[in-house]
Formats: sequence, structure tokens, C-alpha cells
Amino acid sequence: MERPSIPYGRQSISAEDIDAVVAVLRGDWLTQGPAVPAFEQAVARYCGASHAVAVNSATSALHIACLALGVGPGDSVWTVPNTFVASANCARYCGAAIDFVDIDEQTLCMSAAALARKLADCRAHGRALPAVVIPVHFAGQSCDMKAIARLAQDYGFRVIEDASHAIGGRYDAGAVGDCRYSDICIFSFHPVKIITCGEGGMALTNDARLAAHMARLRSHGITRDPAEMETPQHFAAYYEQIELGMNYRMTDLQAALGLSQLARLDDFIARRTAIAARYDAAFSAAGVAVQVLPQEVRSARHLYVIRVPAPSRNALFERLRGAGIGVNLHYYPVHLQPYYRRLGFAPGYCRHAEAYAEQGISLPIFADLSAPEQTRVIEQLSRQMTLLKEEAA
Ligand SMILES: *Cc1c(COP(=O)(O)O)cnc(C)c1O
Repeated sequence: MERPSIPYGRQSISAEDIDAVVAVLRGDWLTQGPAVPAFEQAVARYCGASHAVAVNSATSALHIACLALGVGPGDSVWTVPNTFVASANCARYCGAAIDFVDIDEQTLCMSAAALARKLADCRAHGRALPAVVIPVHFAGQSCDMKAIARLAQDYGFRVIEDASHAIGGRYDAGAVGDCRYSDICIFSFHPVKIITCGEGGMALTNDARLAAHMARLRSHGITRDPAEMETPQHFAAYYEQIELGMNYRMTDLQAALGLSQLARLDDFIARRTAIAARYDAAFSAAGVAVQVLPQEVRSARHLYVIRVPAPSRNALFERLRGAGIGVNLHYYPVHLQPYYRRLGFAPGYCRHAEAYAEQGISLPIFADLSAPEQTRVIEQLSRQMTLLKEEAA
């Protein structure tokens, strides 16, 4: 029988995780009960942020983060192309324009130098500066947030960290999510990410007003706080819808799973770190290029990516998949997606992100990846690379 394919990422669900969800099913609230605020407080405490707002996905978190920062028609939001489309789509939901900043060749995260050049260029030519910049902590590694925060001060934009890959990571002696260098930081709890709720996301901030605003946007724009009402009434069931919000609520089932997973987060990071270290050791000899991690960063190791120059990347990709190794590409550049091309973006706009998309391969990495499975990945990779070299010679 053929061995099952090893995916690039998957969830780890323990008996405790299952019990936590079942306990909610047996209780009084399936949604909007005690598990959601408990999960919010636990994540905020873990990260060292003052406030957290749980929602049904990171996509929703990005949307309400943009809305709470006042993003609307006439504004411009900047992110990177080397990300999932949601990092850019949030601007479009708000009717804002989107633009892209290239990545750093080494770290594969937003290049602070490219951002600085683009900002200076806009200022020099009287073009619109961004209202919000969304750096993405690619593969679990924080961007250079200190440099980005300095530029935010100089140019007057707000910052949302897309930390969908990075819960459990650290930067500059703090946890990713502490919002020391940003207005809002968002996480994803999709099953391939570091911890999961099935579907889920969260927005963290140190600004109480932003937190209250995001909480209101998560639930239809409705408030029950008399201080926020136009005409406060004195009966218990009264509420007011004071703006247009959505239903982006997380359920208690999801929050209970998230809370249980959070208790395992440090173990997950330790496992991922060990797996990455074994890949590093195996590939340093083979001369395979890997992502460079700066000193002040502890990556959450959501992805393990290698670079293989074209044209053999595509052949290697096919062969590894054929051999049951579930390799993937993160990411086809967002600005080259048909939807974004129709907005005027074309090849050549972000050359480092485009070059990386022609070379990148994401290898399997997840907490429950076994040692024999990882051996299979390493052996298949070196075997298929050797074969391709021999065929080319
Ligand atoms: C997964 C991901 C998202 C979206 O997360 P969802 O929870 O699936 O909405 C956004 N940005 C990045 C970088 C991601 O990897």
C-alpha cells in the first residue's frame, strides 16, 4: 500500500482539546458565553497586550482592524505581495486603494528599506501616503518592527501586524502581539497555523478605544453601553446600532479549543524549532538556501521554506508531491493575482517577491511531524535534487 502523503502543515488535537470542546457542548452557551472572553484574556496575557478581540477568522480581524483605524474610500493601505490574499483584501473591503512594498531578499518579510524609499518617493512627488501599513510576519518571523514604527512616526501612518503565522514568536525581547511597535496585531487560528480554533482569529491592541470599537464592529455595530448611545434608555434589553458592523463573532466551541491549544503553544513552538533545526543541519551541507532569521527574532516556525532556482524548482515540486511529500508554495505574489492585475499591477512591480515565488518550496513542518516522516522528507529532497542534477548534466 502506498504511504499517505505528508502534508506541509496540520493541526495537533489532544484528548484535552476534545474534552474542552465537549464541555462547552454540554453547557449553557454555544456562543457568546464565558469561553470567548477567557480565551481573549489568556492570549492578551500571553502576549503582553492590554486588549484582545476574538473573531471568526484572521480575515475578519484584518477587516475590523482597518475599519477601527478609519480606513475608507480615498485611503491607501500598503502590504507585501508575499502573503495570503487576505492581507490585501481587507483594504478593498473598506473601499480603500491597495499598494505593495517589496520583501527583503533574505528575511522574505517586508523590507523596511523598500518601505522607506517608497514613502520618500511619495512625499517627494506629492503622492498620497498610506493610511495604514500591514507588515506580514512571514513564516512566523517578525518583520523589522522598530524600523517600521519609526517610519510610521515620520510619515503619520498606522500599523497593523499580520501575525497570522507568528503567535508564540518573539521580537526584541517581547512577544509578537505585544503591540509595542504597532496599533493592532492580528492572529489566525486556521488549522494549518500554530494553534487552531477550527476557524478563528484575534486582534490585539493596547488602545482601549480601538478594542471597544473592534468589539462593536464584530457584532453588527451594536452597543449596550449607555455612554456610547445616542438616546440612552433605562431598560435592560435596550441596545443601539450606532454604526454598520458585521457578525464576525467567535463561538464558545472555538474559543474553548483555542484556550486548550494555547496551553500547548510553547510545546508547539519547541517542536517546530527542533524540526527546523534538523532541516537546517541537513541542508547546510547540501547548499540549499533557507530563510535568514535575524538575531532579535524568535520565529514561531509556521513555515519552513527553501529556495531552489528555476527551472528545477517546478520539476522538484512535482517530484516531491509524486513521492508523497506535501510541499507547497507560500506565496504566489498577491499583486499578480487576476483580481489585483485588473487594478493595474503587473510583473516587475516587486521583483524580490516575484523571484522568491519562482524559487520557494515550503516543506512539511508541524508539531506532530514524526522523526521518520521528517527523515523521508530530507531523503526525498536530496534524492530528487541529485536526480535532477544528473539529468541536467
Ligand atoms: C492564514 C492567513 C490569513 C487569513 O487567516 P484566516 O484565519 O484563514 O482568515 C491572513 N494572513 C496571512 C498571512 C495568513 O497566512
